[in-house]
Amino acid sequence: MGKVMSYWADVHTHSDFSPDGHDAMDAMAEGAVRAGLSALCVTDHFDTWSSFDPERHRAAFEAAREAASGRLTLLWGVELGEGHTLGARTETLLAAGPFDFVLGSCHCIHDKPDFYDMPRMDRAGCLTLIAEYLEEVRAMIRWGRFDVLGHLTYPLRYMVGRDGAAVDFAPFHDALRALFRALVEGGHGLELNVSNLRRPGGFPMPDLPLLKLYRACGGEIVTVGSDAHRAQEIGAHIREGCALLREAGFARMAVYENRRPVWHPLP
Ligand SMILES: [Zn+2]
Ligand SMILES: [Zn+2]
Repeated sequence: MGKVMSYWADVHTHSDFSPDGHDAMDAMAEGAVRAGLSALCVTDHFDTWSSFDPERHRAAFEAAREAASGRLTLLWGVELGEGHTLGARTETLLAAGPFDFVLGSCHCIHDKPDFYDMPRMDRAGCLTLIAEYLEEVRAMIRWGRFDVLGHLTYPLRYMVGRDGAAVDFAPFHDALRALFRALVEGGHGLELNVSNLRRPGGFPMPDLPLLKLYRACGGEIVTVGSDAHRAQEIGAHIREGCALLREAGFARMAVYENRRPVWHPLP
């Protein structure tokens, strides 16, 4: 009688196919094995600023999956940035699949730089920008060619985490309700991104009140990701993420395979 093993998965990570990634795909897989994960999805950046050759990406993935066989389920993903603005490039990429998992993220508003590159702003400036950001996310949801919405509260990573602005998404609950309902109607899920927990005083993206709001709007599909950009970061704070999802009332998480959610009880 073997004891029941908990199923830990990290489904948002970057290899050196991403411009800001550091480690090769096989090293990422080994990092996941060391972290005690059952499943790892590599989701390299594909957006206006970065792209990878899907054929080369697939080859590296297949080799790493083979090497980790029996020790880890390795899944083939992509983080599409502003996919609704990329036109034929996105179609070409998705046609090269089938990917296991397509994460849809907004790192910027169409006519502005990445929030990472934005200057410090006052509270009013931040609120204006968050309203525009939510409109951009709505446009991406209407486009809809992704599985799960990545790091919903991404602007706060810089506005609050880096610049110390006293701002959050609380003034936008009406817009968020509409956004969550659109997500649910489109069959999409919501990511809990725990990358910020690696920073002192960091917060999950999104936080508990928004996870509860998503659930109240009928949201069921949740995924958990570290957004690791190094092998050593894989699996970091996934445990806290799963606990937070439980606290929000979820009993299971999704790990996508072949673009479909496969359910696992939250460990
Ligand atoms: Zn991202
Ligand atoms: Zn990412």
